[in-house]
Amino acid sequence: MRYAVLNKKNKESISLRETLMGKIDATYDEIDPEVVFSIGGDGTVLNAVSKYAHILDRILIVAIHTGNLGFYTEFLPKGLDDILALLKTDYQINEFSLLSYKAGTYEGLAMNEVFVSGKFKMLEADVYIDQTLVMNTRGNGICISTPTGSTAYNYALGGAIIDHDIKAVQLTLAAPFDTIKHRMAYPIVLSEKHEFIIKPKNYDCELSADRLHINLHNVREIRVKISTKTARFLKNEHNVFAKRIKDTFIGRD
Ligand code: NAP
Ligand code: MN
Repeated sequence: MRYAVLNKKNKESISLRETLMGKIDATYDEIDPEVVFSIGGDGTVLNAVSKYAHILDRILIVAIHTGNLGFYTEFLPKGLDDILALLKTDYQINEFSLLSYKAGTYEGLAMNEVFVSGKFKMLEADVYIDQTLVMNTRGNGICISTPTGSTAYNYALGGAIIDHDIKAVQLTLAAPFDTIKHRMAYPIVLSEKHEFIIKPKNYDCELSADRLHINLHNVREIRVKISTKTARFLKNEHNVFAKRIKDTFIGRD
Protein backbone atom coordinates (compact mmCIF):
# COMPACT_ATOMS: atom_id res chain seq x y z
CA MET A 1 0.00 0.00 0.00
CA ARG A 2 1.16 3.54 -0.82
CA TYR A 3 0.19 6.27 1.59
CA ALA A 4 0.61 9.97 2.33
CA VAL A 5 -0.04 12.08 5.40
CA LEU A 6 -1.36 15.64 5.61
CA ASN A 7 -1.32 17.17 9.04
CA LYS A 8 -2.20 20.34 10.84
CA LYS A 9 0.92 22.19 11.98
CA ASN A 10 0.32 21.81 15.70
CA LYS A 11 2.23 19.71 18.21
CA GLU A 12 -0.35 16.95 18.67
CA SER A 13 -0.86 16.46 14.91
CA ILE A 14 2.89 16.43 14.15
CA SER A 15 3.49 13.91 16.90
CA LEU A 16 0.65 11.66 15.70
CA ARG A 17 2.11 11.81 12.19
CA GLU A 18 5.42 10.53 13.54
CA THR A 19 3.74 7.75 15.52
CA LEU A 20 1.72 6.70 12.47
CA MET A 21 4.77 6.64 10.19
CA GLY A 22 6.62 4.55 12.74
CA LYS A 23 3.85 1.95 12.95
CA ILE A 24 2.49 1.64 9.42
CA ASP A 25 3.64 -1.15 7.15
CA ALA A 26 3.40 0.71 3.82
CA THR A 27 5.36 2.91 1.42
CA TYR A 28 5.22 6.69 1.66
CA ASP A 29 4.17 8.21 -1.66
CA GLU A 30 3.12 11.82 -1.59
CA ILE A 31 2.44 11.98 -5.35
CA ASP A 32 0.37 8.87 -5.98
CA PRO A 33 -0.96 7.52 -2.68
CA GLU A 34 -3.74 4.97 -2.25
CA VAL A 35 -4.51 6.04 1.30
CA VAL A 36 -4.30 9.64 2.51
CA PHE A 37 -4.23 10.25 6.24
CA SER A 38 -5.56 13.64 7.29
CA ILE A 39 -4.50 14.53 10.82
CA GLY A 40 -6.01 17.67 12.30
CA GLY A 41 -9.52 19.09 11.89
CA ASP A 42 -12.16 19.33 9.22
CA GLY A 43 -10.06 22.14 7.70
CA THR A 44 -7.18 19.68 7.22
CA VAL A 45 -9.56 17.38 5.34
CA LEU A 46 -10.51 20.25 3.02
CA ASN A 47 -6.79 20.69 2.24
CA ALA A 48 -6.39 16.97 1.55
CA VAL A 49 -9.37 16.89 -0.81
CA SER A 50 -8.08 19.93 -2.64
CA LYS A 51 -4.53 18.54 -2.92
CA TYR A 52 -5.69 15.18 -4.28
CA ALA A 53 -8.73 16.44 -6.25
CA HIS A 54 -7.30 14.96 -9.47
CA ILE A 55 -7.10 11.41 -8.05
CA LEU A 56 -10.05 11.35 -5.62
CA ASP A 57 -11.58 8.31 -7.32
CA ARG A 58 -8.44 6.28 -6.51
CA ILE A 59 -7.80 7.28 -2.91
CA LEU A 60 -9.22 6.49 0.49
CA ILE A 61 -9.10 9.31 3.03
CA VAL A 62 -8.58 8.42 6.67
CA ALA A 63 -9.49 11.46 8.74
CA ILE A 64 -8.18 11.59 12.29
CA HIS A 65 -9.16 14.50 14.50
CA THR A 66 -6.71 15.91 16.99
CA GLY A 67 -9.04 17.67 19.40
CA ASN A 68 -12.77 17.06 19.30
CA LEU A 69 -14.44 14.91 16.67
CA GLY A 70 -15.30 16.84 13.54
CA PHE A 71 -17.72 16.06 10.74
CA TYR A 72 -15.24 14.57 8.29
CA THR A 73 -12.82 13.49 10.98
CA GLU A 74 -14.34 10.27 12.20
CA PHE A 75 -11.44 8.89 14.17
CA LEU A 76 -9.53 9.93 17.27
CA PRO A 77 -5.74 9.58 17.80
CA LYS A 78 -6.23 6.94 20.48
CA GLY A 79 -7.84 4.72 17.82
CA LEU A 80 -4.71 4.63 15.64
CA ASP A 81 -3.98 0.90 16.14
CA ASP A 82 -7.62 0.06 15.38
CA ILE A 83 -7.49 2.16 12.19
CA LEU A 84 -4.36 0.34 10.97
CA ALA A 85 -6.04 -3.01 11.72
CA LEU A 86 -9.28 -1.89 10.03
CA LEU A 87 -7.37 -1.00 6.85
CA LYS A 88 -6.38 -4.66 6.53
CA THR A 89 -10.02 -5.80 6.61
CA ASP A 90 -12.99 -5.45 4.30
CA TYR A 91 -13.67 -1.97 5.68
CA GLN A 92 -16.70 0.23 5.01
CA ILE A 93 -16.51 3.65 3.41
CA ASN A 94 -18.48 6.89 3.39
CA GLU A 95 -18.80 8.23 -0.11
CA PHE A 96 -19.43 11.98 0.07
CA SER A 97 -20.68 14.37 -2.59
CA LEU A 98 -18.61 17.22 -3.96
CA LEU A 99 -19.74 20.33 -5.77
CA SER A 100 -18.38 21.27 -9.14
CA TYR A 101 -18.33 24.91 -10.16
CA LYS A 102 -17.70 26.77 -13.36
CA ALA A 103 -17.19 30.52 -13.53
CA GLY A 104 -15.68 31.90 -16.70
CA THR A 105 -12.35 30.16 -17.16
CA TYR A 106 -12.32 28.84 -13.59
CA GLU A 107 -13.65 25.44 -12.66
CA GLY A 108 -13.09 23.14 -9.76
CA LEU A 109 -14.47 21.11 -6.89
CA ALA A 110 -15.62 21.99 -3.39
CA MET A 111 -16.29 19.68 -0.48
CA ASN A 112 -18.17 22.09 1.86
CA GLU A 113 -19.51 24.92 -0.22
CA VAL A 114 -19.17 27.46 -2.97
CA PHE A 115 -19.75 31.00 -1.72
CA VAL A 116 -20.24 33.89 -4.11
CA SER A 117 -19.94 37.41 -2.72
CA GLY A 118 -19.67 40.96 -3.98
CA LYS A 119 -16.19 41.56 -2.55
CA PHE A 120 -16.58 44.87 -0.73
CA LYS A 121 -19.89 45.63 -2.40
CA MET A 122 -23.29 44.11 -2.05
CA LEU A 123 -23.81 41.21 -4.41
CA GLU A 124 -26.86 41.52 -6.60
CA ALA A 125 -27.71 38.46 -8.63
CA ASP A 126 -30.36 36.49 -10.42
CA VAL A 127 -30.50 32.86 -9.31
CA TYR A 128 -31.72 30.10 -11.58
CA ILE A 129 -32.53 26.49 -10.84
CA ASP A 130 -31.68 24.84 -14.13
CA GLN A 131 -33.45 27.02 -16.73
CA THR A 132 -35.87 28.72 -14.32
CA LEU A 133 -35.26 32.10 -12.74
CA VAL A 134 -36.24 31.68 -9.07
CA MET A 135 -35.00 34.83 -7.41
CA ASN A 136 -33.30 38.12 -7.62
CA THR A 137 -31.33 38.82 -4.49
CA ARG A 138 -29.10 41.44 -2.95
CA GLY A 139 -26.93 40.88 0.07
CA ASN A 140 -23.54 39.68 1.31
CA GLY A 141 -23.51 36.54 -0.75
CA ILE A 142 -24.92 33.21 -1.80
CA CYS A 143 -23.83 29.90 -0.30
CA ILE A 144 -24.30 26.57 -2.07
CA SER A 145 -23.34 23.61 0.08
CA THR A 146 -23.11 19.83 0.20
CA PRO A 147 -24.71 17.72 2.96
CA THR A 148 -21.30 17.30 4.65
CA GLY A 149 -20.74 21.04 4.30
CA SER A 150 -24.14 21.79 5.85
CA THR A 151 -22.62 22.04 9.32
CA ALA A 152 -20.02 24.60 8.18
CA TYR A 153 -20.74 28.05 6.71
CA ASN A 154 -24.24 26.95 5.71
CA TYR A 155 -25.12 26.36 9.35
CA ALA A 156 -23.91 29.83 10.34
CA LEU A 157 -26.21 31.26 7.65
CA GLY A 158 -29.26 29.53 9.11
CA GLY A 159 -29.25 26.62 6.66
CA ALA A 160 -30.44 23.16 7.60
CA ILE A 161 -28.12 20.41 8.78
CA ILE A 162 -28.44 17.59 6.25
CA ASP A 163 -27.80 13.92 6.92
CA HIS A 164 -24.70 12.79 5.04
CA ASP A 165 -26.62 9.87 3.56
CA ILE A 166 -28.91 12.22 1.63
CA LYS A 167 -27.79 13.31 -1.82
CA ALA A 168 -28.75 16.98 -2.01
CA VAL A 169 -27.55 20.51 -2.58
CA GLN A 170 -28.58 23.52 -0.48
CA LEU A 171 -28.65 27.25 -1.21
CA THR A 172 -28.63 29.84 1.58
CA LEU A 173 -28.34 33.62 1.48
CA ALA A 174 -25.95 35.67 3.57
CA ALA A 175 -27.56 38.78 5.04
CA PRO A 176 -30.13 39.30 2.28
CA PHE A 177 -31.28 42.91 2.01
CA ASP A 178 -35.04 42.84 1.93
CA THR A 179 -36.15 45.65 -0.29
CA ILE A 180 -36.19 43.56 -3.42
CA LYS A 181 -39.53 42.09 -4.45
CA HIS A 182 -38.45 38.69 -5.61
CA ARG A 183 -36.44 37.63 -2.63
CA MET A 184 -36.42 34.14 -1.25
CA ALA A 185 -35.53 34.46 2.43
CA TYR A 186 -35.22 30.79 3.31
CA PRO A 187 -32.82 28.04 2.24
CA ILE A 188 -33.64 25.83 -0.71
CA VAL A 189 -32.67 22.14 -0.74
CA LEU A 190 -32.67 20.34 -4.06
CA SER A 191 -31.95 16.82 -5.16
CA GLU A 192 -28.53 16.16 -6.64
CA LYS A 193 -29.61 16.34 -10.26
CA HIS A 194 -30.26 20.11 -10.24
CA GLU A 195 -27.93 22.95 -11.00
CA PHE A 196 -27.86 26.42 -9.49
CA ILE A 197 -26.89 29.20 -11.86
CA ILE A 198 -25.97 32.59 -10.43
CA LYS A 199 -25.95 35.57 -12.77
CA PRO A 200 -24.34 38.43 -10.87
CA LYS A 201 -25.19 42.03 -11.72
CA ASN A 202 -21.72 42.96 -10.51
CA TYR A 203 -19.50 41.19 -12.99
CA ASP A 204 -16.54 41.55 -10.61
CA CYS A 205 -17.27 39.35 -7.63
CA GLU A 206 -15.55 36.76 -5.48
CA LEU A 207 -15.95 33.01 -5.42
CA SER A 208 -14.81 30.88 -2.49
CA ALA A 209 -14.61 27.12 -2.81
CA ASP A 210 -13.89 25.83 0.71
CA ARG A 211 -10.52 27.43 1.53
CA LEU A 212 -9.78 28.74 -1.95
CA HIS A 213 -10.70 32.32 -2.89
CA ILE A 214 -10.91 33.49 -6.49
CA ASN A 215 -11.43 37.04 -7.75
CA LEU A 216 -13.75 36.91 -10.73
CA HIS A 217 -13.53 39.58 -13.41
CA ASN A 218 -16.26 40.14 -15.93
CA VAL A 219 -18.01 36.86 -15.20
CA ARG A 220 -21.67 36.69 -16.26
CA GLU A 221 -22.56 33.26 -14.96
CA ILE A 222 -21.52 30.89 -12.16
CA ARG A 223 -22.77 27.32 -12.36
CA VAL A 224 -22.77 24.99 -9.35
CA LYS A 225 -23.99 21.42 -9.10
CA ILE A 226 -23.22 18.11 -7.46
CA SER A 227 -20.21 16.58 -9.23
CA THR A 228 -20.05 13.06 -10.56
CA LYS A 229 -16.82 12.82 -8.52
CA THR A 230 -17.02 11.82 -4.87
CA ALA A 231 -14.60 11.62 -1.96
CA ARG A 232 -14.16 8.28 -0.22
CA PHE A 233 -13.56 8.17 3.51
CA LEU A 234 -12.84 5.27 5.83
CA LYS A 235 -15.98 4.84 7.92
CA ASN A 236 -16.06 4.56 11.69
CA GLU A 237 -19.05 2.37 12.43
CA HIS A 238 -19.18 3.58 16.00
CA ASN A 239 -19.60 7.20 15.05
CA VAL A 240 -23.20 8.45 15.36
CA PHE A 241 -24.14 11.55 13.33
CA ALA A 242 -26.76 12.77 15.84
CA LYS A 243 -24.20 12.59 18.64
CA ARG A 244 -21.70 14.64 16.66
CA ILE A 245 -24.34 17.31 16.06
CA LYS A 246 -25.18 17.37 19.74
CA ASP A 247 -21.54 17.53 20.85
CA THR A 248 -20.72 20.30 18.37
CA PHE A 249 -23.73 22.59 18.60
CA ILE A 250 -25.23 21.88 22.00
CA GLY A 251 -22.25 20.75 24.05
CA ARG A 252 -20.73 17.66 25.56
CA ASP A 253 -22.12 15.94 28.66
P1 NAP B 1 -11.01 26.53 8.68
O1 NAP B 1 -10.26 26.69 9.93
O2 NAP B 1 -10.58 25.51 7.71
O3 NAP B 1 -12.53 26.26 9.01
C1 NAP B 1 -13.25 27.09 9.83
C2 NAP B 1 -13.98 26.26 10.88
O4 NAP B 1 -14.98 25.48 10.24
C3 NAP B 1 -13.08 25.28 11.62
O5 NAP B 1 -13.43 25.29 12.99
C4 NAP B 1 -13.43 23.94 10.99
O6 NAP B 1 -13.28 22.85 11.86
C5 NAP B 1 -14.88 24.14 10.67
N1 NAP B 1 -15.40 23.26 9.62
C6 NAP B 1 -14.88 23.06 8.39
N2 NAP B 1 -15.67 22.22 7.69
C7 NAP B 1 -16.70 21.88 8.52
C8 NAP B 1 -17.83 21.04 8.37
N3 NAP B 1 -18.08 20.40 7.23
N4 NAP B 1 -18.69 20.96 9.41
C9 NAP B 1 -18.47 21.61 10.56
N5 NAP B 1 -17.41 22.42 10.77
C10 NAP B 1 -16.54 22.55 9.75
O7 NAP B 1 -11.08 28.00 8.05
P2 NAP B 1 -11.12 28.47 6.59
O8 NAP B 1 -9.81 28.28 5.96
O9 NAP B 1 -11.71 29.80 6.48
O10 NAP B 1 -12.10 27.33 6.05
C11 NAP B 1 -13.03 27.42 5.16
C12 NAP B 1 -14.32 26.92 5.75
O11 NAP B 1 -14.73 27.82 6.78
C13 NAP B 1 -15.33 27.02 4.68
O12 NAP B 1 -15.49 25.82 3.98
C14 NAP B 1 -16.58 27.48 5.41
O13 NAP B 1 -17.49 26.41 5.62
C15 NAP B 1 -16.13 27.99 6.74
N6 NAP B 1 -16.51 29.39 6.88
C16 NAP B 1 -17.44 29.70 7.82
C17 NAP B 1 -17.85 31.00 8.00
C18 NAP B 1 -18.89 31.29 9.06
O14 NAP B 1 -19.27 30.35 9.77
N7 NAP B 1 -19.37 32.50 9.19
C19 NAP B 1 -17.33 32.03 7.21
C20 NAP B 1 -16.36 31.68 6.24
C21 NAP B 1 -15.97 30.34 6.10
P3 NAP B 1 -11.87 22.28 12.34
O15 NAP B 1 -11.49 23.15 13.51
O16 NAP B 1 -12.18 20.88 12.71
O17 NAP B 1 -10.89 22.39 11.22
MN1 MN C 1 -27.20 8.72 8.33
